[in-house]
Amino acid sequence: MNEFQKKDLKYIWHPCSQMKDYEELPPIVIERGKGCYLYDVDGHSYLDCISSWWTNIFGHSNVRINKAIEKQLNEIEHVIFAHFSNKPAIELSEKLTNISPKGLKKVFFSDNGSSAVEIALKMSFQYHQQMGKIKKVRFAALTDAYHGETIGALSVGDLDLYSKIYKPLLLDTVRVEAPDCYRCKYGKERSNCNAECFEYMEKALEQYHEELCAIIIEPMVQCAAGMKIYSPMYLRKLRKACTFYDVHLIADEIAVGFGRTGKMFACNHADISPDIMCLSKGISAGYMPMSVVMTTEDIYNAFYDDFSTLKAFIHSHTYSGNAMACAIACESLKIFNEENIIENNKIKSGIIRDLVTEKAGKNSFVGDMRQIGMITALELVKNKKTKEKFNWKKRTGYEIYKIALKNGLLLRPIGDVLYFMPPYVINEKDIEYMVNKCFHSIDEYFQTNH
Ligand SMILES: *Cc1c(COP(=O)(O)O)cnc(C)c1O
Repeated sequence: MNEFQKKDLKYIWHPCSQMKDYEELPPIVIERGKGCYLYDVDGHSYLDCISSWWTNIFGHSNVRINKAIEKQLNEIEHVIFAHFSNKPAIELSEKLTNISPKGLKKVFFSDNGSSAVEIALKMSFQYHQQMGKIKKVRFAALTDAYHGETIGALSVGDLDLYSKIYKPLLLDTVRVEAPDCYRCKYGKERSNCNAECFEYMEKALEQYHEELCAIIIEPMVQCAAGMKIYSPMYLRKLRKACTFYDVHLIADEIAVGFGRTGKMFACNHADISPDIMCLSKGISAGYMPMSVVMTTEDIYNAFYDDFSTLKAFIHSHTYSGNAMACAIACESLKIFNEENIIENNKIKSGIIRDLVTEKAGKNSFVGDMRQIGMITALELVKNKKTKEKFNWKKRTGYEIYKIALKNGLLLRPIGDVLYFMPPYVINEKDIEYMVNKCFHSIDEYFQTNH
């Protein structure tokens, strides 16, 4: 252990960690980064296969973004956002309304994904209250959903690892069985199914619509559930049903927005517009905390009245509309445009797919290979035929994670699902390195454990 690690462990409680694990694997102290690579204080390098928790879309220490920050830094870093504004926030809002699914015309700022989800839930609830639909006091969400860690966001999420112990504290969410394409009950293929699994949602809406403010969903991919990709048909059906039953559709695009699934927003795959859309992570290119909630004129107008009606949305976070983060987001959108990112990513994801498909086919433990845009996931199973999972207590994914670190990769499997979600600046050489090292690490693990 180096001196930094000793001090780190003396003072810091890390997120999403059993701190006891750090006894055998102390925190890796990163000193600098460039492009897809991270460099630690001991001189080791790591290819950042997961874009530093799905945020860093244009690589570390990106020259264009660094410049934009410097420029903004010399103008204004931050200013109160109630009754004040700043130029980057205005520019960003205009840009976002131009590129987002149609109808989303108003932008509300916050500083992290969970807060954005809280805002979306509160906004939808208050809307219905103010429209006289006072019975609408609940939300619906999918099994295996992940929407963040604050109490409201946990309530709509469904991953036991994060929420189980808090159940007594959480809202009473209507839980609907999610699509599960790898283990499809209907024996269909995602590429040509009719989202038969929507029947659960249909039933839930029929039964609960009078109580429901909104349904919150991660469009196209339930990322934290292990990159579970589903059919756009599901979203099309959901949009129709939400409109029919007067229930808001909240799209949590926090992980999948900004080109991750091959389109600017995942809702674009189904050509639908949600009533409320949450964005974070990639929005500020992995540089600074920021999130936004976008919504329609209809929802906005339900809050717009004389002060004395007390209809205003009195929600605030200190760092709302932070000028530095907004300047980064504006520059990032320019990069999308000027460097033709979405089109170029198609080539890159094709290269990843070809390499991974070839290797996955030969591997006895890769049960499923799934890809959408710049997300490629490998689900490891004990038995490829029966799709039987490994005992979770064996921590197969975690063991491979440790081997991969030694081999120069920052992979961060979700359970036994390994995935690549690299910064878009990754090049062909790095892709080969990433895929080869990953399969090498898988082999290394199974050579000694089977
Ligand atoms: C990461 C994530 C969140 C929570 O965002 P934080 O900034 O970590 O609070 C919510 N929803 C989805 C889909 C996410 O991936």
